[in-house]
Amino acid sequence: MTSRTRQLRIEDVKRHIKLSGLKTRDMVRWANLNLIDWLNQAKSASVRRVLDIIVSAQQAQRIAEDARRVATDEQYFSCKVRAGSVLSKLNAALSRYNCMVKVLFYDASLRRHYFFFTGRDSKDRREVVAVAFLIENLALVHRVRRCVECQRWFFAVTEHQKYCGDNCRKRHAAQGADFRAQRRLYMRDYRQQQKAAETRAKKLVKRGT
Ligand SMILES: [Zn+2]
Repeated sequence: MTSRTRQLRIEDVKRHIKLSGLKTRDMVRWANLNLIDWLNQAKSASVRRVLDIIVSAQQAQRIAEDARRVATDEQYFSCKVRAGSVLSKLNAALSRYNCMVKVLFYDASLRRHYFFFTGRDSKDRREVVAVAFLIENLALVHRVRRCVECQRWFFAVTEHQKYCGDNCRKRHAAQGADFRAQRRLYMRDYRQQQKAAETRAKKLVKRGT
């Protein structure tokens, strides 16, 4: 990813969080409560459905970001076509859910709020809450990530965050150090064996002459 794209992403995220009226820290809590904690529970058909939505939304977001950097109309059109095919998949997945808008009195102001529902049974509640969070916070969908160490889902506070927390970051770094140490030993042995083989070859050549 170019630094310009990263910068645009950060600006989008800041603008979105500001409009939501939450602080970044509260947005992380909100994401955990509505989406992340549930994703980390046992796999189910409803979790898989939401994961598909996340994957498509992230793909579409990347294409939209590509479209910002194009130089020609042709390149822009090609992005639009690519986005169209990903979005038709995303919108097909979303067609399962219904949405209703209500205006609420909240914190001495009027707020619109979208209620998602499936019209099926009440055990879908966590699923519709997760989908509602994703749709209302599309600009943040790339912050929904999997920890490269423990594979659990987390909501990234910063653009470059790869681990769910400090423990995983340290464990990963320690494994990296172990690997490097093992590789050093392996290379030392390898070089010694090479040297011994060369010496043997030279002796054989001498004997032959
Ligand atoms: Zn982790």
